[in-house]
Amino acid sequence: MSFESDLRKSAGFISREHLALWLDQIAEQMLLIAPRDVDGFILYRKANGAVDIVWEYTRPVMPIKDALFPPTERLFSIDKCHQEVRLIETEPPPEQVLFGVRPCDAHGLQALDALFLTTDPVDTYYARRREKSTLIGLACNEMGPSCFCTSMGSAPDDPRYVDILLEEVRGGYLVEIVTTKGATLLNRVPMITQPFTGVRNKKDWSSNPIYDYPPLDTWQTGFDDPFWKATSERCLSCRACAYVCPTCRCFDVRDEPLPGEGETKHYERIRCWDSCTGEAYRRIAGGHNPRPEKEQRLRNRFYCKFYYFPMQYGPAACTGCGRCIDICPAGVDITEVLQYMANAISLEVTQPVKGSER
Ligand code: SF4
Ligand code: SF4
Repeated sequence: MSFESDLRKSAGFISREHLALWLDQIAEQMLLIAPRDVDGFILYRKANGAVDIVWEYTRPVMPIKDALFPPTERLFSIDKCHQEVRLIETEPPPEQVLFGVRPCDAHGLQALDALFLTTDPVDTYYARRREKSTLIGLACNEMGPSCFCTSMGSAPDDPRYVDILLEEVRGGYLVEIVTTKGATLLNRVPMITQPFTGVRNKKDWSSNPIYDYPPLDTWQTGFDDPFWKATSERCLSCRACAYVCPTCRCFDVRDEPLPGEGETKHYERIRCWDSCTGEAYRRIAGGHNPRPEKEQRLRNRFYCKFYYFPMQYGPAACTGCGRCIDICPAGVDITEVLQYMANAISLEVTQPVKGSER
């Protein structure tokens, strides 16, 4: 599977009309997911053609991870009749084109790939969706009030994690083919493009605020800082911050009983998103919970993103999309956490990270 930027070449300019035509053709041949207005909320959803798509938006309320790692997913079904057990596999997912993906959302898939694809065992359910998905990115025209992707090594026009990137210019879009997967889609559903003769409205993002990304040793020394208790007093453990996050990937698995036939009992094994800020997240058999306090759970959320994940996989598990800032009912702001930790060089607390809580 090639999910890397391995091609990077310009395909020229496409007018709005021709782009709409191209999207209509895609929707006829495969599943098209694109930003849509759902009761006043912009969400990535199935689109039957260009007419369904919303074009003016900062970023959808939920990330594109829904299309690859659904909030609730049936893994397989189980029929049980006396001692006989039969497993019924779920239908493989359809080929899908994810259109209008913001660079921060595409960037978030890096974290999902690290866990589900490049670490054994490979997650079959994620892998087959990922393989059948082509990402068409749409560069942002501006950064929203809570966006800080430029602090996390990315940018509103970052092409690296999509297969094709579109950038709005006068009358249409510039098209960049980023991966061979993007080129394959264009071979299958050709675009009507022409050489670009206009002026590219290249933005300078440097005027946006930059939050320092504290180095790993700062996190080492900040584990017992009173900041965590003070911040967690606001947290409601509602888990909303994880559900809107393009990089959060924890899940729970359970068997759901469904109506059976005769003596046959029917179950579905499902997995659904979970979050480390929830009280029961780490509770184990016997009722022991290594993170019973809110401050431990909220701290874990940030340590997972900026310490544990980078230690294991390299990059931080945050793309700077800012969704968790917008959604938090208690005003917990990840940029305040980053700033605090970046300034924590003068902390007197020197307790090392406790492995027993992880
Ligand atoms: S959204 Fe805010 S209140 Fe809810 S769990 Fe996250 S930090 Fe806590
Ligand atoms: S800003 Fe918040 S929601 Fe967005 S990637 Fe970072 S932690 Fe996740």
